Amino acid sequence: MLKFLLFLVEVIAAAEVFNIIVICVLSIIVIACAVVFVKSIIKISWSIYKSVYYKSDKFNSIKKNISVFVNDCNELNAYIETLKNKYIDNMEYDNTPIILNKNIGNWNFAREHIDSYNNNEHVYDCSLSVFKNAREHPFKYICKYFNIQADEETIEYFENMLNDYSSIEQGIVLLQMKYNDLIESHKEDIPYFIRKYDSKQLEYKLNFRKVNISREYIMSYTFRYISAGGNSGQSCTIEFDVDTISSFIEYIYNKINVTRSAKYQRQLMTPRLREYIKERDNYTCCKCGISIRQEPHLLLEIDHIIPIANGGLTEESNLQTLCWRCNRSKGAKIEY
Ligand SMILES: [Zn+2]
Repeated sequence: MLKFLLFLVEVIAAAEVFNIIVICVLSIIVIACAVVFVKSIIKISWSIYKSVYYKSDKFNSIKKNISVFVNDCNELNAYIETLKNKYIDNMEYDNTPIILNKNIGNWNFAREHIDSYNNNEHVYDCSLSVFKNAREHPFKYICKYFNIQADEETIEYFENMLNDYSSIEQGIVLLQMKYNDLIESHKEDIPYFIRKYDSKQLEYKLNFRKVNISREYIMSYTFRYISAGGNSGQSCTIEFDVDTISSFIEYIYNKINVTRSAKYQRQLMTPRLREYIKERDNYTCCKCGISIRQEPHLLLEIDHIIPIANGGLTEESNLQTLCWRCNRSKGAKIEY
């Protein structure tokens, strides 16, 4: 009898546990459904709200009012892109074929990196000893294996690159600032939720062309060592960003001085010299007279008054500040 009672208690207890489990599972399902439902409602309402807003007269009038400003930003954006492209197909210093082999045996090391190789990456496959030396003395080995001569032409090439890369970097930041200022000045007209949660779409709807902030345009040199069996490998990439280009120019400059042992006088286009020229010219374009006082986010560039191609030198007296618009039209005139 006692045994039977105990058994009964156990059955009831088990049933209760079962019930509790069932209730829990059901509640979870109900809550999940409710969450999904509410989320969908919010999502649908949000898209309806957005599409109504972007079609509204209010939005269209904002768009109309800022169209000149937007065009100017898009032109600057396009200008930045042309600067990036200037160096992509221009590989006059490279006689090494670029190897874009994505399946190198079992070599998994830095596979992701291989996938990210772009048009502007120079790759040299080398022995382990060259690889080690290249890591110790990157500039020396870049010159040696990518056939870069220590001469005036090289300095000019990298000085131009430094100028262009600086403009790209500054231009991207300035574009962002221009956009943020614009949105800030229309704070009252553009609803908070649109500004806060739909900024990308807003940018697009206002006709701003997307700013490409990837660093793919940056030229780089890679030394790559792969073991004989292809099972292991190492790679070392030197990205020619503004700082590296600046040091590289100095390296070449010193090398010329040593080999020539003659007086080799010339100023180097360093970021400091660029800044100095802008300050000297009072952050004002020497051609059209526009300054950062009139246009706070104005992209200013450094121009050789007599172009290097025509024998002009990198000297304070031959350098001037130009706004990107004037510099762009000057560049176009020389080409024709
Ligand atoms: Zn100008």
